[in-house]
Amino acid sequence: MNESIYSIAIDGPSGAGKSTIAKGLAKRLGIVYVDTGAMYRAIGLKVMRMGGSPDDSPFVIGILPSTSVSLGFVDGIQHVFLDGEDVSGLIRTQEVSNAASKVSAVPEVRYKLVELQKKLAEDTSVTMDGRDIGTYVLPGSKYKFFVTASPDARTIRRYRELEGKGRLFGMTFNELLLEMAERDKRDSGRDCMPLKKAPDAILIDTTYLSVEESIDAVMKYIKVGG
Ligand code: C5P
Repeated sequence: MNESIYSIAIDGPSGAGKSTIAKGLAKRLGIVYVDTGAMYRAIGLKVMRMGGSPDDSPFVIGILPSTSVSLGFVDGIQHVFLDGEDVSGLIRTQEVSNAASKVSAVPEVRYKLVELQKKLAEDTSVTMDGRDIGTYVLPGSKYKFFVTASPDARTIRRYRELEGKGRLFGMTFNELLLEMAERDKRDSGRDCMPLKKAPDAILIDTTYLSVEESIDAVMKYIKVGG
């Protein structure tokens, strides 16, 4: 095992700022960012495309053997590929968010993606964000963080993100708040690898922090190369 390879695990509910922090850390530290949510989203998208319901576990399990999900880089930015097709632009809708949250409760889906995620961190240093990274995917991570923020702050961020991309499709703030609460409840309540703070993870509350302040709040715990 290469001693200089390390990983940073970042978990938390949606809209807490995990991916912003993980991306910022990767840039500052010159390591690879792995967006595990994009992988669950790709499977959610496939189920939708095939006309299945993400609630239908046998259907979801049935498509897994003929489904490939991988991450790659295009102009230095991480993209997700579903059966070889770049679907990065298609997975950020609210519909796919909900499908991802449902398919991610199916243990077979998790086993398949967790295995891929573990492999991605084998040979290179990574910041990986998700719901179960510090607990199941990379339990031996040198650094673990659980990033959270108030439900209102998380909804405002997601609302602005969707608004900025023209993807609100008439959804109100309260509808989004309820949808996110439902998704978080499903993520925390599932039997297989639920959203949970690892006992040794450092809690970071970003409710009142800007993007740079959030990255700084995590960065101050990271000691590498010395
Ligand atoms: O992080 P993101 O919002 O893109 O994740 C989409 C969904 O994928 C989450 O709501 C969650 O249900 C699922 N997910 C998961 N485990 C991960 C990452 C995401 O269950 N490690």
